[in-house]
Amino acid sequence: MRRIWRKALAQPTIGNHRGATGQLCAKDAMRGGSEQEGKRETMQDTMAECPICAKQQGEVLGGPIYQDELVYAHHVYNRDGGPTFLGYVRAETRRHVPSFAELTPEEAQAVGLLIARLSKAIKACTGADHVYAFFYGDHVPHLHVHVFARYPGTPEEFWRERVDEWPRSPKGGAEDVAALAQRLREYLAESAVVVD
Ligand SMILES: [Zn+2]
Repeated sequence: MRRIWRKALAQPTIGNHRGATGQLCAKDAMRGGSEQEGKRETMQDTMAECPICAKQQGEVLGGPIYQDELVYAHHVYNRDGGPTFLGYVRAETRRHVPSFAELTPEEAQAVGLLIARLSKAIKACTGADHVYAFFYGDHVPHLHVHVFARYPGTPEEFWRERVDEWPRSPKGGAEDVAALAQRLREYLAESAVVVD
């Protein structure tokens, strides 16, 4: 298990914005984080500059896939041009907390359920045969879990953070991302879960 985790951390793309393609790096959310490094800031200042807080309060391409008072999810879009890997969503807390360690029991429950439901929705809406869920939290101190598809036939050399580098992986433009976001949103709405 330790070996697998270490290998995953060493991979170049998802969650690491020094990746070769930048495709799965969520640059919209990551960029602000690195600029904050080395600064001493109050929590309020950090929240004011947090790209995830700002995004949740603004607009995102395709709209939120899911949102309630505790959690939020959307499909990641490659703003730097070039096609976007389809089937990469991010599950986030509403509250500006850095990691799972700071979650309330209610938030932890909501995040876990959201990841499970997103995983099921991605499989159903994209044809993925496996869905990953990665958390790092190194650059932006606002809990966000990378949830993304692995498509049938993906060679093992392209597993984990490199799924987008497989030349045959499905990619698209803004319209494709928005359309998939809509399908995911509808799937989640139609499979609503009631938790006591
Ligand atoms: Zn935040």
